[in-house]
Amino acid sequence: MTTPSEELIGLASQLREIEQRISEVSGGTVDAIVDREGRPHLLRGAQQDLHGRVELQRRFSEQQAAILDALPAHIALLDAEGNIVAVNKAWRQFGETNSPDTRFCGEGSNYLDVCDRSSGAAAEASEAAAGIRAVLNAQRERFSLEYPCHSPDQNRWFNLISAPLRAGQPGGAVVMHIDITERKLAEMSLRRAASLFGASNDGVLITDPDGIIRDVNPAFTLISGYSSHELVGQPAAIHPRLNTPGLSEAIDASLAAQGHWSGELRARRKSGEVYEQKVSVSVITDENQHPLNYIIIISDITRIKAHAAELDRVAHYDALTGLPNRRLLTDRLEQAIRHARRYEEVLAVCYLDLDHFKPINDHWGHSTGDQVLVDVARRLEGALRESDTVCRLGGDEFVLLLPGIDPDGELDRALDRIMEVLHEPFDINGGKTSRVSASIGMALYPEDGEDADALLRYADQAMYSAKAGGRDRYLRFDRSAAQRLKEHSSQLQSIVTGLERQEFIFHFQPKVDLRDGKLIGVEALVRWQHPEHGLLSPARFLDFVIGSEIEIRFGEYVLDAALAQLSAWQQQGLTLQVSINVSGNELRQPGLADRIVERLGQYPELKPGQLEIEVLETAAIQNNSQVLLTLNQCREAGLQVSLDDFGTGYSSLTVFRQLPVDTLKIDQSFVRDMLEDAEDCSIVESVIHMARAFNRSVVAEGVETMGHARALMRMGCHQVQGYGIARPMPADQIPGWIADWQREKSWETLGTTN
Ligand code: C2E
Ligand code: MG
Ligand code: MG
Repeated sequence: MTTPSEELIGLASQLREIEQRISEVSGGTVDAIVDREGRPHLLRGAQQDLHGRVELQRRFSEQQAAILDALPAHIALLDAEGNIVAVNKAWRQFGETNSPDTRFCGEGSNYLDVCDRSSGAAAEASEAAAGIRAVLNAQRERFSLEYPCHSPDQNRWFNLISAPLRAGQPGGAVVMHIDITERKLAEMSLRRAASLFGASNDGVLITDPDGIIRDVNPAFTLISGYSSHELVGQPAAIHPRLNTPGLSEAIDASLAAQGHWSGELRARRKSGEVYEQKVSVSVITDENQHPLNYIIIISDITRIKAHAAELDRVAHYDALTGLPNRRLLTDRLEQAIRHARRYEEVLAVCYLDLDHFKPINDHWGHSTGDQVLVDVARRLEGALRESDTVCRLGGDEFVLLLPGIDPDGELDRALDRIMEVLHEPFDINGGKTSRVSASIGMALYPEDGEDADALLRYADQAMYSAKAGGRDRYLRFDRSAAQRLKEHSSQLQSIVTGLERQEFIFHFQPKVDLRDGKLIGVEALVRWQHPEHGLLSPARFLDFVIGSEIEIRFGEYVLDAALAQLSAWQQQGLTLQVSINVSGNELRQPGLADRIVERLGQYPELKPGQLEIEVLETAAIQNNSQVLLTLNQCREAGLQVSLDDFGTGYSSLTVFRQLPVDTLKIDQSFVRDMLEDAEDCSIVESVIHMARAFNRSVVAEGVETMGHARALMRMGCHQVQGYGIARPMPADQIPGWIADWQREKSWETLGTTN
């Protein structure tokens, strides 16, 4: 492409050539520029009317006009005064489209006047006028001015060039306007790009198609630490530096398909420091889509990444031990399950809870406790494989994920190793040591469960069983135990509902003295009037209650019901003694005696001696000072105390002697078989003797027949309770039974048959 000045130079030389030829032919000096009709305009010399010369002039002027018309530049020829004497086609067309008044700057008008008139609107106009004047006056060889031309529809740029028609001599001039808009826009956008390139905070690398760096901006030198001198001419080496397999290919593919690739990479500064960069690569192609350059823009995102990593750490890691926290555990566990599923491996999920950690905290303070926890975390990590995960859930609870583990042997070895490292003493406050152990529950994928929640829950349940089993051990989740636990808790829940709905009622079983048939009292035996299952005996539900959190509440219910019943009978004129069964845990509860006394106080019509508590021998003989205290307090308050199921607890004579009880109840198992089993018979006999020796009353329970009653009478035990006398019955049947019993006097036959 020819530049405007080249165009002008070409034009000027053509003009000179024409002039030369004319002068050769005419033999005179001719300032020869003629218009299209062949009329001389600028001729200022002698003119010879030679036919050949005119013809030649005409031919040359035609050629010259054709040349001028073919040019895209707007060209005008001025005479020495600045009058426009000829214009080319482009000039004319421009005038026609852009200025309705063609005379304004068309042929015949004075160009200098036009410029002067426009100078108010455009500053460049007066500069143009001055420049052209200087050319006309031979003060300048050449004048050039670039100026914007604003028309309503477009903004264009022109280059005005003026040159004398005869170099070094005053006279006419050629004026040319060349549209340089495109070049101007390109320059402006280049300038903008260059200022962006220089001022950008992002590093910019420009490479040639072979990846050789051709330019770098200052930001990149700052980021990379290399000077531009060290970089330019070197391979951008972006591909070899990416250690991710397949990434170069991915970049190439993306560049080929979309002309662009962006992503995050890790690179090394000149100092050797690794940094994180966000990279965007664009390709610039020629019209045939062949790469011309690659533009690589790089932002240093090391700090952003570090910040994000810090946020991630805070959200996913335990602040104290640095171990993954509960949130991250969920992710890791799900990931481990997916992995185990794909590779058909076993995954062990272990729930670990330290034993007796609280005393360390309480005794040595929390910072020591923290120190131990950190130490535990390190030991756990040390004892496990690289592929295993240790998480801290909080407090002294940890979860271990052991993927791809062989459950037969390898798992036990891993857990033994953990137990071992935890048994090692912990240094506390520089010197003192403390020992720690752990209870671990484990559940295996896929055998025990297949989803994260279930596995964790099962491992947790197994951990509780390990604790219950005596701590310092690991236990595998036992589905049937878990099932039992589930049933247990649902049973317990329905018992609570039953209590609220007063579904528990009492049957009363008389105890009599066979010597005179006197009713000693009645034992309150609980029953559950179940809305669906009917009347349930204690064997169906008591085991759920005993040892549960509702045991005490249940005992209070029994006490209240018994007292209310006693009071009701009293109001019917029936003064009775009622025994209630008190469980071992109730007995161990401080304040039981006070509670009973307080409840009794609500029934002033009742005497304390009308209430008896039956405590199991097994519960009473435990060397528990609270039990002894309660029993003593009850007796001091006037209550009766009897030792239930005596013979099952193997109490030694020494213990028995100290027990504050009024009565022994011989366990029904001995009584039942005493007629056939000599051993049971002698046990019954010795209990009777012992009671007598220690001055206690004795009651035989489970007296099913009169035969039993007779034998017992013979042995010296007159107080009996059992089906042979009466079955337990509802409260409202008691008065009727008493009446019948006294009327029939069946006990009297016992003495006579003897
Ligand atoms: P226990 O205190 O030794 O009560 C005697 C049990 O023997 C009662 O069973 C009674 O029905 C049964 N029994 C009485 N005479 C005979 C007999 O001649 N032959 C046979 N085979 N059994 C006889 P029950 O009512 O099923 O109570 C069982 C146990 O449940 C009671 O044994 C007592 O330990 C406990 N229990 C009952 N009610 C309560 C209560 O309100 N609270 C507490 N904590 N335990 C209770
Ligand atoms: Mg009893
Ligand atoms: Mg009993």
